[in-house]
Amino acid sequence: MEIRYWNKEIETADREKLRQIQLQRLKSIIASALKTPFYSRRLPSVGIHSPDDIKSLDDLRKIPFTTKDDLRQNYPKGLLSVDTSEVVRIHTSSGTTGVPTVIYLSAKDLDAATDIMARSIYATGTDKTDILQNMMSYGLFTGGLCMHYGAERVGLMVIPAAGGNTKRQIQLMKDFRTTVLHITPSYLLHVHSKLAEYSVAVSDLALKKAFVGAEPHSENTRRKIEDLFDIDAYNSYGLSEMNGPGVAFECVYKTDLHLWEDAYIVEIINPKTGELVPDGKEGEVILTNLIRHAMPLMRYRTRDLAFLHKESCPCKRTHRRLSRILGRTDDMLIINGVNIFPSQIEEVIMKIPEVGTNYQICVEKQGALDRLIVKVELYSKIFMGEAKQIDNLKAKIADELKASITLKPAVELHEPGVLPVFEGKAVRVVDSRPKL
Ligand SMILES: [Zn+2]
Repeated sequence: MEIRYWNKEIETADREKLRQIQLQRLKSIIASALKTPFYSRRLPSVGIHSPDDIKSLDDLRKIPFTTKDDLRQNYPKGLLSVDTSEVVRIHTSSGTTGVPTVIYLSAKDLDAATDIMARSIYATGTDKTDILQNMMSYGLFTGGLCMHYGAERVGLMVIPAAGGNTKRQIQLMKDFRTTVLHITPSYLLHVHSKLAEYSVAVSDLALKKAFVGAEPHSENTRRKIEDLFDIDAYNSYGLSEMNGPGVAFECVYKTDLHLWEDAYIVEIINPKTGELVPDGKEGEVILTNLIRHAMPLMRYRTRDLAFLHKESCPCKRTHRRLSRILGRTDDMLIINGVNIFPSQIEEVIMKIPEVGTNYQICVEKQGALDRLIVKVELYSKIFMGEAKQIDNLKAKIADELKASITLKPAVELHEPGVLPVFEGKAVRVVDSRPKL
């Protein structure tokens, strides 16, 4: 049988070889892009009339960025390069404004995306002996189906559990001896808080690993997950516009995420100026998809903030590693003039041992000023402890947050189960200030 999930030649190719693959695939993507209504207008306007106008990878930078607004304005078919009879699947995302975006995959595109997903899974040391419980939502969202196809390609037994119904999820984990979960970090923490209620101990389960993704989370959240379940948690990165999870994935060394550079060209830019920033420096992640022809997407502004590592990885893969997502250009909160990313708050509270598995960040207006309230759930035995200790803990959390974000929030401590629970992507921030 042909192995489609471990390609040593490509995964450890030298940088020059990778650049050659990228250039050849970019030319091929340009040919497809010129067949779409959107890029057939945009590319000639910057002097690109055929793939031959791309002489080197530097020519990519002639192409203007493609934004989420471009996708919305060209919904539903403006970026489609083929007749719909060639399309085998679509995914859509609704976005916060309710205007949808769509991606299209041909049979060949789906096959290529599945190979990359399978490669990601295999890089974590997961193989056909593993049993994956896929707890991401199936359907129009890419997280469920794309992981499902990749896991089947590696030969895992897949339990397509989708999101929700925590009691049944725990039952499935027990009955089928699930070894790997694919899940959002917030939902995984919630699952842990429910184990006792269903009289299940972590030791009753066969879990070894979790692939966590679909929402930014801190290193301290990863550690918490690993400690609570006694497993390895691997960070995964993807977005529906790029085919979903598996754009970048951690290998067994868990030293941040290999971004598969034969399938994607990554650039990191200063989001304000659009200028490239060097490796090691934080900026907005820009991606060009090299393996999807039915709907080409070039220099897409993801709005995710991260940096690329300069050092090589002990696994010898040469594809550069992307840091965890440090925030999004559109999730920054400005509170009384101070710029704060929710991820900074999470980083602080998740390393405090008394803090449980759920939290919420609220911003409201009080007179002319903004008020930041950080609500955290404590483990029950801590919450039932002495009042003085609780007061001390509250002060400690407020002080540690001030040291990180420079302003001191109000801290509320709650018993477990009080704050809203999310079985998919968590909504951690509630900003009730009037919109300007
Ligand atoms: Zn590695």
